[in-house]
Amino acid sequence: MTTAPTHTSVGDPDAVIRAAGLRVTEPRRAVLISLRDRPHASAEDVFQTVVESVPSTSLQSVYNALSDFADAGLVRRIEPAGRPGLFELRVADNHHHLICTDCGDVRDVDCVVGAAPCLTPADSQGFTLQTAEVTFWGVCPDCAAASPAENPAPAAFGRS
Ligand SMILES: [Zn+2]
Ligand SMILES: [Zn+2]
Repeated sequence: MTTAPTHTSVGDPDAVIRAAGLRVTEPRRAVLISLRDRPHASAEDVFQTVVESVPSTSLQSVYNALSDFADAGLVRRIEPAGRPGLFELRVADNHHHLICTDCGDVRDVDCVVGAAPCLTPADSQGFTLQTAEVTFWGVCPDCAAASPAENPAPAAFGRS
């Protein structure tokens, strides 16, 4: 299966913001560009990038822009346990995430079936299911290579 990632990041940021029904402001534009360059960023990460191009931006305005984008469906917020919320522009494809417990690297993994909900529980107890979010926790190849002694048998974590 060769489905291209459905980034909303293609094209003019102003047009993307307007298409979501939002007014274009400098912080919003900078936030969008930041997320395009660096998906799975926390609000703090986004802020650090944005102040470089728009020094007058406050952390609060970054939070506001992210929240507006999330409400407009432009941005997806994921909330891995014990971590700050992370934001990305890849929305509406119900993809999942691999997160490294060592370095915190977050990677996308495609939804198994290509549509939400990707997974269904053995018993949905009458719920009408909309989404399933899966976070796969583990050690990324870089971290595994850096400390082979601590991870003697990474193959054991794979499916057989
Ligand atoms: Zn890692
Ligand atoms: Zn993602």
